[in-house]
Amino acid sequence: MTRPSLTRRSLLATGGAAVVAVGAGAAARPAVAAPAESSREGDPPTPAEALRRLLRGNHRFVTGHSRHPHQSLDDLHELAAGQHPFAVTIGCADSRVAPELLFDQGLGDLFDNRVAGNIVDDLLLGSVEFAVEEFGSPLIVVLGHERCGAVTATIEAIHSGGTAPGHIGTIVDSLRPVVEPVLDEPGDAVENGVRANVRAQVRSLLERSPIVAAKVHEGALAVVGARYDLDNGRVTLVS
Ligand SMILES: [Zn+2]
Repeated sequence: MTRPSLTRRSLLATGGAAVVAVGAGAAARPAVAAPAESSREGDPPTPAEALRRLLRGNHRFVTGHSRHPHQSLDDLHELAAGQHPFAVTIGCADSRVAPELLFDQGLGDLFDNRVAGNIVDDLLLGSVEFAVEEFGSPLIVVLGHERCGAVTATIEAIHSGGTAPGHIGTIVDSLRPVVEPVLDEPGDAVENGVRANVRAQVRSLLERSPIVAAKVHEGALAVVGARYDLDNGRVTLVS
């Protein structure tokens, strides 16, 4: 079955406009009447379809229409034999940014990678490449979030001229070169740092992983950056 593909470049190029378009489409339909979505039936979705599926789920979440799909014992038993997650997430460990909840997905849907500051280090990169190679997941989402503590700690360390205690310093040292260049930009420093970090981690994925870059080039995979709003639960793309 031939399907139109959407490259990372075109996904990123649409930026916030894509969110508006998808959001408007989802709003035009009653969320409860939308067809069931499964990550385990038929062909894997295209990158664009996977992104739409995630954003539709987020729309259900923010409008109070979450379906909590794929969370039954039957789903658990079906998935015991294997998984086909349709998206790979790289998110912060923050307890308020749980991908299955905010995207209204369930077991077997998302291959989650979470660490404070959503940083793509070598271990995390290996985890992402495993998902892309093993399961053919068509979408990677780098998900930063509003008021990220890791970004805040980094800014505080820069201002104080020090670093953070223990291994927290490893996180701060990793984020410092990303956050420092945008510190003097207009607006909120943490918000600027969060967005700069999302962009930096997307770039890092593409530059450091030949596996990811090749699949993006083929049109089989897209990498997008996104920001989660702690106040209203909405996910918007960061271009
Ligand atoms: Zn965070």
